[in-house]
Amino acid sequence: MAEDKKHNCHVCGLYSEDLPWGKDGQSPTYIICDCCGVEFGNEDYTVESTKKYREEWIKKGAPWFISKAKPLNWSLERQLMNIPNKFK
Ligand SMILES: [Zn+2]
Repeated sequence: MAEDKKHNCHVCGLYSEDLPWGKDGQSPTYIICDCCGVEFGNEDYTVESTKKYREEWIKKGAPWFISKAKPLNWSLERQLMNIPNKFK
């Protein structure tokens, strides 16, 4: 079976009920990620731009875009493991 991480942000690995890049993984929703603040289809358009955005976000201390959405026991390391392999 193909990799099944269509619910996860390409930058930070956050799980969302929506499919950030659509059912086919090719149709970005242009929704903003609650966690890293990427706009799906914009800064994560290529693997390179995704890595660059992630690097800068982590350098800033990995702040949540919607700070109240941050879970109490949130772990950056754990969430990063959910990034689709292609974008790691
Ligand atoms: Zn994200």
